[in-house]
Amino acid sequence: RVRVRYAPSPTGYLHLGGLRTALFNYLFAKASGGDFLMRIEDTDQTRKVEGSVEALTKSLHWCGVHEDEGPTAGGPHGPYVQSERLHIYKEHAERLIHEGHAYRCFCSQDRLASLREAATRAGSGTMYDRACLGLTPAQVDAKLAANEAHTVRLKVPEGKTTLKDMVRGYVQFDHSVIDDQVLMKSDGFPTYHLANVVDDYMMQITHVIRGEEWLSSTPKHILLYNALGYRVPQFAHLGLLLNEDRSKLSKRQGDVAVEDFQKKGFLAEGLVNFVALLGWNPAEGSTKEIFTMPELQAHFSMDHINKSGSVVNIERLRWINSRHIRSLFESGAPKADTVAVVRPYLGDVANLDAFDTEYIWGALSLMKERVSALPEFTPLVHYFFAAPDLDSAESAAMRAKYFQENTGGLEPPSVDLAVVDAIVHDVRAQLAALDSFDGKAIMDLIKRAAKERKLGVKAVLMPLRYYLTGMEVGASLGETMEHLGKAETLARLPSA
Ligand code: GLU
Repeated sequence: RVRVRYAPSPTGYLHLGGLRTALFNYLFAKASGGDFLMRIEDTDQTRKVEGSVEALTKSLHWCGVHEDEGPTAGGPHGPYVQSERLHIYKEHAERLIHEGHAYRCFCSQDRLASLREAATRAGSGTMYDRACLGLTPAQVDAKLAANEAHTVRLKVPEGKTTLKDMVRGYVQFDHSVIDDQVLMKSDGFPTYHLANVVDDYMMQITHVIRGEEWLSSTPKHILLYNALGYRVPQFAHLGLLLNEDRSKLSKRQGDVAVEDFQKKGFLAEGLVNFVALLGWNPAEGSTKEIFTMPELQAHFSMDHINKSGSVVNIERLRWINSRHIRSLFESGAPKADTVAVVRPYLGDVANLDAFDTEYIWGALSLMKERVSALPEFTPLVHYFFAAPDLDSAESAAMRAKYFQENTGGLEPPSVDLAVVDAIVHDVRAQLAALDSFDGKAIMDLIKRAAKERKLGVKAVLMPLRYYLTGMEVGASLGETMEHLGKAETLARLPSA
């Protein structure tokens, strides 16, 4: 049974890279009926940020990524927080020492600092000179009895480690460039390497899917698995996420937190679809780009992961998101649910509370093809809830463009103000007499009015649009009027 994990350090919010790692693990597990675990790697207590476990979990759940086991979900292999498992790592470190795979190091910080300096000067890959490996058991006992601070180091054997990565194929590491890693720190906490290996074994992880930045740690992990006599899991290292200029993705060049994208009105489905395509391609020859979560679960496979970096292109995210917004209205989802998703982003729409869900949904639905993020609905739908402000600069510009003689934009012959007024009055009267006030009938009426006067449809349409919406662009005017309803339409149009 496939068991995978997302193992964040609680140092802040969930960023796109974290979401990508979690998502690929989750999809891999779900595609094969396996388990997805969440484990908190908080062995570096100095980097810990209060509240981040909650924040990470909340963002993951918002994205529809739900763990089968973890700190909040519980499970048979807990605790799932490393700081609650210290005794386990301690036992492992003792065993490694006992079996000759690790040793205690009593070197002072000062000594290590000067070794590090010397190594940097010499351009050497390793820095620790193994001074403490030469201590006799009696010397070690004496230091322990004197309570001297110490760490535990892995005794890296000579040779090479070869890894068969699921994404990169064979990767070889020469041990001569691997330092004797610290496994236990002097404060009694394990390092990432020890805790990660011990937990992946104890939690029965079968596949380790993580970012490329961990690749150089992997030979150390394999050495540890071997030293402990534990089965080595399979590894997959995902390519980096990149800024548009191909530098490593950074906050400085734009949003990276899932929360930020949520605030900006991206749908969870849109963000997840976008992130899934950062490094994964659907099967060869497929041009499918829009995926729901169930579709991702059905299509995902580790065979189609590329090892190169992936540029985070926000325009692509916007495009993908626009498709998911559209399908929010076309998928048959309950209208109340859809309105509930969009509503928090309609803060600036006046009068919203005076309308029911059905009406709000209808107004949004007319604009669903024009938005790529939820806040973009606001300027497009406000006139469904309140008459437009015809004194606004935008309205004035529109009036100038469509009502005045010889300003262009109209089919010849151009019309003057008096003619425009007459048309609007006449069309209003005909609308008032219309039995079924539906979009098609309304448009037929408008076309007829234009034809009778030998005008282009636009010459009739735009003045009406001006009075009804104050805006140059919008949904079909027939549908707009139908949705506003007869009474409101007539109320907004001037009468003779
Ligand atoms: N705690 C590491 C992180 O923050 C986990 C890396 C791994 O998956 O092994 O990403």
